[in-house]
Amino acid sequence: MTHPTIIWFRQDLRISDHAALCAAAANGPIIPLYILDDETPATWKMGAASRWWLHKSLENLNTKIPLVFRRGRADVVIADLIAETKASAVYFTRDYAPWSGALEKRVKDVCDKAGASCHRHGGFLLHEPESIRNGSGEPYKVYTPYSRACFASGEPRALKAVPQFKIYPTAKSDHLADWDLLPTKPDWSTGLAESWKPGEENAHALLYQFLDEGLADYAEGRDRPDKPFTSRLSAYLHFGEISPHQIWHATRSAMAKAGGGLDRSGEKFLKEVLWREFSYHLLHHFPHFPDLPFKPEYADFPWAENPQALKIWQKGQTGYPIVDAGMRELWHTGIMHNRVRMIVASFLIKDLLIPWQDGERWFWDTLVDADIGANSASWQWVAGCGADASPYYRIFNPVLQGEKFDPEGAYVKKWVPELQSVAAEFIHHPWDMAVPPKSYAKRIVDHGVARDRALEAFKKIKKVEA
Ligand SMILES: Cc1cc2nc3c(=O)[nH]c(=O)nc-3n(C[C@H](O)[C@H](O)[C@H](O)COP(=O)(O)OP(=O)(O)OC[C@H]3O[C@@H](n4cnc5c(N)ncnc54)[C@H](O)[C@@H]3O)c2cc1C
Repeated sequence: MTHPTIIWFRQDLRISDHAALCAAAANGPIIPLYILDDETPATWKMGAASRWWLHKSLENLNTKIPLVFRRGRADVVIADLIAETKASAVYFTRDYAPWSGALEKRVKDVCDKAGASCHRHGGFLLHEPESIRNGSGEPYKVYTPYSRACFASGEPRALKAVPQFKIYPTAKSDHLADWDLLPTKPDWSTGLAESWKPGEENAHALLYQFLDEGLADYAEGRDRPDKPFTSRLSAYLHFGEISPHQIWHATRSAMAKAGGGLDRSGEKFLKEVLWREFSYHLLHHFPHFPDLPFKPEYADFPWAENPQALKIWQKGQTGYPIVDAGMRELWHTGIMHNRVRMIVASFLIKDLLIPWQDGERWFWDTLVDADIGANSASWQWVAGCGADASPYYRIFNPVLQGEKFDPEGAYVKKWVPELQSVAAEFIHHPWDMAVPPKSYAKRIVDHGVARDRALEAFKKIKKVEA
C-alpha cells in the first residue's frame, strides 16, 4: 500500500506557484491539511476580520483541492494524522512569525519520531531573511540598502505550474462551518463581504486589473486615498492566495510590454513589495518587534493613560475628517489606504500620546490584511522607534495631509456622511466654518497644542536621536 503524504497548508492558500504542494504531489497521494491552531501564538491570536477572510479563503481553496480541516496545536494534530493514516512525509511552506520557528521544529520532531520525512519550502517571501546580509554579514536595519541588495540578488525564481495531484481518500475532517470563523451575533461582516472576494482566482483578477488600470498612475497616485491606484493585494498576499513571485513576474511582464512606459511606476510598485520583505527581514532577526520598541530608549516614553480617547479614535469620532474617514473605512471594509494608515497612526501616537501597541492591536483585530510583519514594522515606523523609522519629530498634520492627498474631500465624504455638504475649502477643517455641521464630532484635541505636547514628551526620552 502507498503511504500518503501530508501537505500542510498555512499562509499559502493557493494551488499555483506552490513549491511545497508540487513536491508533495510528486511523492504520491496527498492529504491536504489545514489546521486552525489557536494555541500556538500565545498573544497574537488571529483577529476577527482575518478569521472572516480565512473562512472565505478556505471555502474557496476547498473547491480546488479537498481539505482536511483539523483544530488544535499543529504539531499534535500532525502527529495524530500521521498515526491515523501512516503518512510517510509532511510538506509545508515556511512561516516567519516569532512563534513559527519553534512550532516548525516541533513538527520536525514528531515526524522524526513517527519515521516520516519532513520538508519545509519557501514561497511566502521572495528572499529568505537569512539570504540578504550587508557587507559585514549582518542583517540590514535600513530599507534602501536592503532593497538594493534584493534587486542585486537577481530576479526571483521562475513560477511553478499547478501540479497533477491524487487525493488520499480517507482522512476524517471537521466541518469548516463549525469553527465559527464568521461573526454571527452581531454580524458585522456585511461591509467585508461587499468589499472583498477572497480566493486565488480573485487575487489574480485583481492583479491584472491593477496592472491594466492602476499601475500607470502608481508612482504619482499611490498616496491618494480617493483614487484606485494601488493594487489592494495585501490580504491576498498575507493569506498566500497569490505569491510575491507571481506578482513580481507579472509586473515585470507588464513593464516589458509597455516598452519603458511603465518603468517608473513598476519599479515603485516592486519596491513596495520589498517593504513587505523588509518587514519580515526585521521580524526574523528581531522577533520582539510586535511587542517592544526596536530602539529600547522608547520603552521609557511617557504615554498617556486614556482609554476613552482610544475608543474615540477606534470609532472614527476624533473630529479630524481624514482620521475619522480612515477609521470608519477600516471598520466597514477591513482595509485602509496606506497614506491614511500613516495619518491615523501618527494621530493616535503623537496627538493622543497613546502607545503604538494599542493601535497595532486594533489594526490586528480589524484589518483583513493584518500581518505580524508589516503591521508591527509599520507601527514602529510611525512611532519613530523602529528600524529605519520616521524621526520622532515628524508629526503628521491631519489638515495638511487631508488637503494634499484628498484635495476635493471625496474620500472624507465617502466615509463621513455628516460632512457630505461641506465645501472642499473646509472639508478638512470644518470647525473653521461659520456654522460647522452639528452632527459631526468636535475635535478631541487641538493639533497645534497636541504637537507641542508630543515634542515635549519625546524630548524626555533618554538618548533620543537628534
Ligand atoms: C500603521 C500601519 C499599519 C500597517 N499594517 C499592515 C498590515 O497589517 N498588513 C499589511 O499587509 N500592510 C500593512 N501596512 C502597510 C500598507 O499600508 C499596506 O500593505 C497597503 O496599504 C496595502 O494596500 P495595497 O495592497 O493596495 O498596497 P500596494 O501599494 O499596492 O503595495 C503592494 C504590496 O506591497 C506591500 N506593501 C506596501 N506597502 C507596504 C509597507 N509599508 N509595509 C509592508 N508592506 C507593504 C503589501 O503587501 C502590498 O499589498 C501598514 C501600514 C501602516 C502605516
